[in-house]
Amino acid sequence: MIYFDYNATAPVMREAREAWLNVTEKIGGNPSSMHQAGTRASIALADSREKLASYLGCNPLDIVWTSGATEANNTVMHHFAKKLAPTDHVFVSAIEHPCVDDSSKHYFGKRVKSIPITRDGVIDMDWLTAELADKRPGLVAVMAANNETGVIQPWQEILAMCQAYEVPFFTDAVQFIGKMPCKGLGECDYVSGAAHKFGGPRGVGFLKIPHRSQITPLLLGGKQEGGRRAGTENVAIIAAMMAALDVREKQIFRSEHLLRKVWRDNFEAQFLRAMPGATILGHNQPRLWNTVSALMPEGDRKSQWVIRLDKAGFAVSTGSACTTGKEEPSHVLAAMGVKPHQAMRAVRFSAGWETNELDWESLLKAIVKVHGEMQHK
Ligand code: PLP
Repeated sequence: MIYFDYNATAPVMREAREAWLNVTEKIGGNPSSMHQAGTRASIALADSREKLASYLGCNPLDIVWTSGATEANNTVMHHFAKKLAPTDHVFVSAIEHPCVDDSSKHYFGKRVKSIPITRDGVIDMDWLTAELADKRPGLVAVMAANNETGVIQPWQEILAMCQAYEVPFFTDAVQFIGKMPCKGLGECDYVSGAAHKFGGPRGVGFLKIPHRSQITPLLLGGKQEGGRRAGTENVAIIAAMMAALDVREKQIFRSEHLLRKVWRDNFEAQFLRAMPGATILGHNQPRLWNTVSALMPEGDRKSQWVIRLDKAGFAVSTGSACTTGKEEPSHVLAAMGVKPHQAMRAVRFSAGWETNELDWESLLKAIVKVHGEMQHK
């Protein structure tokens, strides 16, 4: 099986497994305990915190460990729901992951103003510039890179605008971290990440919160994480997440992602030649080097592609893992102006650091073969 669904989740890398085992075997205490075993755990936790803060470029005290990005993102919305005045609005991009989209609607209802998207899958900056100048929302939420299309959002520009208007800026950086350099993300007021997208374990992530501002926690109970997230921290799983990020940051520092982008770009060029009628979403935009979001040729339904490619030995997806199974057009593609009948032909190929050039070539051959079979069925 050749895996092309890294945006859903990535395999846990050896370094992360080893870090987990090492900490599990050697550090048994609760980081909140005062004895030596507890102190060892709290030192390990502080090491992880410092490491992440140095990668993001923020204060270690800004980091709150969570069970993943869903919790982190819900925490932001919950916090702002408590903090903002009942008449305040929030600006949320139309292409956010459901854990931002649904939680913002849950807490703010009609007070959510959806930031429109261009046909290329990027935030409409003209709209945002005009609206920010006119209104002062209580929060702006725009993800760093989209999970379905891989399109990178201009988060640095948005951050600068928000800073100029003194509006808090939140970015879900789940798909960006571990694929692109994360330096500078720490400047954003709120940032979320999840280990399982970059080779760490599932069920762990973080939220970067300005440590000077109080947060209304989502989970109540103990006073862990400076009272911002109750529950005993899982020191080993956090160390595993940081071991994975260490590896990814080193690969990015050595520019290893640039070669992978060339492989992906070659695949796209050959794919478009081999499959008349197919299109690639956000093709001319800055995109994550691993993602291809394709509208397959007329007549081929996305679930058929996934099933047939799976049989041929390739794990691909129809879009977000959270929406698979539903034969409904994705809200991301709808926001880009893709018609429902076109969106039914959307297939996502998302590679990882382990994917090589040969894997892309094999995928292309399988696509062409499956396409031929579908036409003659
Ligand atoms: N945000 C984005 C952009 C994602 O792609 C995902 C996972 O698919 C999440 C949030 C949710 O992350 P988690 O699975 O860690 O809760």
